[in-house]
Amino acid sequence: MDRVDVLVVGAGVIGLAIAREFAMAGKEVVILEAQSSHGTGTSARNSGVIHAGIYYPTGSLKAQWCVRGRHLLYEYLVSHHISHRRTEKLIVAGGAESSRLEQIYATGHANGVTDLRMISGQEARGLEPGLVCDIAIHSPSTGIVDVHELMNALLGDAESHGAMLAVDSGFEAAMYANGRWESQILGQRVASDVLVNAAGLDAAAVAKRISGFPSEHIPRMFFAKGNYARLNGRSPFSRLIYPVPVPGGLGTHLTLDLGGQAQFGPDVEWLPTPDSEQSNRGLHRVFDYAVTESRLKHFESDVRTWWPGLPDGALSPGYAGIRPKLAGPGEPAADFLLQGPQEHGLPGLVNLFGFESPGLTSCLAIAQAVRATV
Ligand SMILES: Cc1cc2nc3c(=O)[nH]c(=O)nc-3n(C[C@H](O)[C@H](O)[C@H](O)COP(=O)(O)OP(=O)(O)OC[C@H]3O[C@@H](n4cnc5c(N)ncnc54)[C@H](O)[C@@H]3O)c2cc1C
Repeated sequence: MDRVDVLVVGAGVIGLAIAREFAMAGKEVVILEAQSSHGTGTSARNSGVIHAGIYYPTGSLKAQWCVRGRHLLYEYLVSHHISHRRTEKLIVAGGAESSRLEQIYATGHANGVTDLRMISGQEARGLEPGLVCDIAIHSPSTGIVDVHELMNALLGDAESHGAMLAVDSGFEAAMYANGRWESQILGQRVASDVLVNAAGLDAAAVAKRISGFPSEHIPRMFFAKGNYARLNGRSPFSRLIYPVPVPGGLGTHLTLDLGGQAQFGPDVEWLPTPDSEQSNRGLHRVFDYAVTESRLKHFESDVRTWWPGLPDGALSPGYAGIRPKLAGPGEPAADFLLQGPQEHGLPGLVNLFGFESPGLTSCLAIAQAVRATV
């Protein structure tokens, strides 16, 4: 049986950051990826936004790791010459919603996002002439990143410190025996001191395959699809524009990619909970990522509340990503759930459940927290 120090299940941006963190600390690491390449899951289907850390409840893991992760990420992007841009962001409101901005501003400030500025609608229009709003928050530290370049750099760092990525290698099962984890992959067994479950959408299914894992520690998962619409033609905005958040997401906002292409979304489309047969197959095979024309109607009306000049027929279906959520429709948003031995009682095992946004921004801070857990 092969033996390593750390086995990481899942080669998304979080699994790769964790693998890098352990490898750079001198540990022998293997990363298992079920797909034929790293970074094809949720990490390839998001907005690519480096969030400032404004919205999350103060003291939550999301707030702490987003703010810390954002600082770490910008340093990393600069030192590794990874494409990114501090686009800045405006959160805009009009009418009755204006009072919610005060609350958002106060939360952001309490979270350590100290560069926010409350600005008038007139000042906002001076920055972005297409906007209609009464008031806005200006966030100078929000940005965008090329997520694939980031993942390649994380993997490169991990590999140059001896880590190995095994693709087409789905984790099948594990048991704790003789003071170590024995995991089964493609009929072979690998022993490790540490087992990290960073399987994203499939994290609960992976935890169910760990023999002896207490079932009360496997959370109920909910899945919310986020559909994007592309803006045909040039974007009139150079900053990211967000309305006030809606339940389950951040509202139909405008983000930009590094080529200047604008997109709107993601919206929130709750999906039926997969059954156990579907979960066993792997959820990327079960979920439908197609974006239908019929969803674009909602986008047009939402966007016109702050950009009335959106031309008719300017939107076309874009891509979609799916959020692994720990709270369902109508429930208050849940925090990230990082479970180590202190929580579930099994040595050397770490599970990551519900790592939706801001997981990309937070990846380097999450990796440090995972290493500190075991
Ligand atoms: C619509 C949307 C927009 C978002 N926008 C942002 C944003 O702008 N900024 C931000 O900070 N965050 C954002 N996020 C969140 C961010 O994308 C995620 O937090 C992050 O990508 C999660 O990374 P991950 O490594 O946990 O998961 P993934 O990227 O999904 O990686 C998990 C990997 O595990 C693999 N796997 C699954 N089962 C197995 C198995 N049995 N064996 C081996 N491998 C397995 C999968 O194939 C996959 O490659 C967004 C998320 C969504 C859905």
